[in-house]
Amino acid sequence: MMSNVHLSKSKYCKCVQCKKILWLEKYKPEFAVKTAKDSVLENGTKVGKIAKGLFGNYQNIEFNENLNIMIEKTQELLRNKPNIITEASFNYKNNFCSVDILKNDVDVIEIYEVKSSTEIHDIYLDDASYQYYVLSKLGLNVKKVSIVYINNQYVRGEELEIGKLFNIEDITDIAKSKQEEIKNNIDMINMYMTEHSENNEPITDIGLKCSDPYECEFWEYCTRDLPKPNVFDIAGGMRKTQKFEKYYQGKISFEDLQHDQDLNSKYLEQIDFELNNLKPKIDIEAIRNIMDLLKYPLYFIDYETYQVAIPEIKGTRPYQQLPFQYSLHIIKEKGASIEHREFLAEVDDKNFIRHFAESMIKDIPNNGSIIIYNKAFEPARNREIAEMYPDLKDEMYRLNNNMVDFLEPFKQRKYYTKEMHGSASIKAVLPALYPNDPELDYHNLPVVHNGGEASEAFLSLKGKSKEEQEKIRHGLLVYCELDTYAMVKIWMKFKEIIGGRVL
Ligand code: SF4
Repeated sequence: MMSNVHLSKSKYCKCVQCKKILWLEKYKPEFAVKTAKDSVLENGTKVGKIAKGLFGNYQNIEFNENLNIMIEKTQELLRNKPNIITEASFNYKNNFCSVDILKNDVDVIEIYEVKSSTEIHDIYLDDASYQYYVLSKLGLNVKKVSIVYINNQYVRGEELEIGKLFNIEDITDIAKSKQEEIKNNIDMINMYMTEHSENNEPITDIGLKCSDPYECEFWEYCTRDLPKPNVFDIAGGMRKTQKFEKYYQGKISFEDLQHDQDLNSKYLEQIDFELNNLKPKIDIEAIRNIMDLLKYPLYFIDYETYQVAIPEIKGTRPYQQLPFQYSLHIIKEKGASIEHREFLAEVDDKNFIRHFAESMIKDIPNNGSIIIYNKAFEPARNREIAEMYPDLKDEMYRLNNNMVDFLEPFKQRKYYTKEMHGSASIKAVLPALYPNDPELDYHNLPVVHNGGEASEAFLSLKGKSKEEQEKIRHGLLVYCELDTYAMVKIWMKFKEIIGGRVL
């Protein structure tokens, strides 16, 4: 006999993505590799908490491992209409759900599903429609279903205005139109899990669904038998759709792909370099051109930023990149020794962006060349600062006008080695240029090893003991310092390539 699987809204949504996720979570959870960052999860939790107050006073159903307690408490509160209940919990034939915000009017109910995203993804419609299904099946009169999500145009003033922070979209018609589909999906999930016991693993091929809408935690597991390297290791912007097209054609290993004329020359080059162990390719003229752009003093700079859904600083928008740290290496003139400056915001400084900018302006007083790695990033932050603080505008644009991007020669493959594995990221370039140099190895850093970890580390400072804070701050400083030292080392390598003839 078919038994009903315990579903929740998140489990249901995972099954919409791929039913095998449910099977793997049940029988092989040890193979899951976490894909969501802590900061993303934390943003979600914070948004959920703030949104609860969207319609004024509310009564919350506390989480309980025993879901029946939540369900019973919900039934009690439902009787006190009209009211607003958050996390109101229901169960219909093992299909459980908690509604983020439930408006319980005299005759009708409204469902509000809260998301920390700035747009509505299809999976949110499945999520909210599943809730409509559960509540309607229980006989509740649901009049309206809405998605509450972040308004990325909102600019925070002195106070946070939650009415402006969120957009609300009525999706009732979509939810109604999906009811048959939901019933069929639930039946299918139940059948699937009944047919596939622990010893009868379902065979499911990988596909675009593995990263849409979410990066699946079982990707490593499901691709464990693919040859290495394979089509999914091609870097440099090859689209997922094209990768899967090749995969389905059976062109999976680099050997399979090496003569595929459908592939862009950049991807074929990566394959060729790795398969045939080719020597580095260096366009000396291009390196000379970029070196010719440089004027002393040389300022090698890199920013670290973080993003939060709920803006805490006046003048910022949801998910704006907030610069909290920079490292700066300076070579004032030809033959001068390398100096280092840095800035790392204090954790309780509400004005840290301004302090960041002021410190940087002070550290870069002259119009030399400011060397960055990715012109899409630092200049954009400077423009945002200029918008927030008009009195700093001229200085921020002065800095932008002096920027030279060291990413370019690598992105354009003017300098390429097989060790870069198709990537122009500084984390791929530096070890390729200086192999086996422990001083330049990001793996040897103590706390922070990449930009994502840097923002997580900075956000984790609040509430930590002084000693812990110091350890993390030290980790941040040495990490960011290596990023700009890496650029100095790239400059040195360029100098070597053009025969020391610089400036
Ligand atoms: S990696 Fe892909 S195929 Fe494997 S469980 Fe996840 S979504 Fe399904």
